[in-house]
Amino acid sequence: MSASRILVIEDNPANLELVTDLLELAGHTVHSAAAAEPGLEIARREQPDLILMDVSLPGMDGLAATRALKVDPRTQAIPVVALTAHAMRGDEQLAREAGCHAYLTKPIETRTFPGRIAALLAACRVGSNSAPPSS
Ligand code: MN
Repeated sequence: MSASRILVIEDNPANLELVTDLLELAGHTVHSAAAAEPGLEIARREQPDLILMDVSLPGMDGLAATRALKVDPRTQAIPVVALTAHAMRGDEQLAREAGCHAYLTKPIETRTFPGRIAALLAACRVGSNSAPPSS
């Protein structure tokens, strides 16, 4: 599996720890933020390969943060995957309208999560860095 740099924006400490552990076990480098504004700053500075964005954040929510990423030329090309506990009908549509490439529901399924992230990274990867997805 190719290692990627992933930014996780998640205000729930337990969920952030779980996601971070799973991504690091898969060989990825993880940056994290517990709120949208510092997350946007890290995205601009670190230019991660993928952003996992909790939808429900204090203050600016994850959908507004995604819109902010998508209107900023410095961050608009970074794929964003929405993470939400709200499995309500319409949420996926809202996430996609905000600019999210994909949508994962919480609680995180620990056995399938790494493979889903690998598949998303492979699908989002363009140009020089492309490699076949490993299983
Ligand atoms: Mn949250």
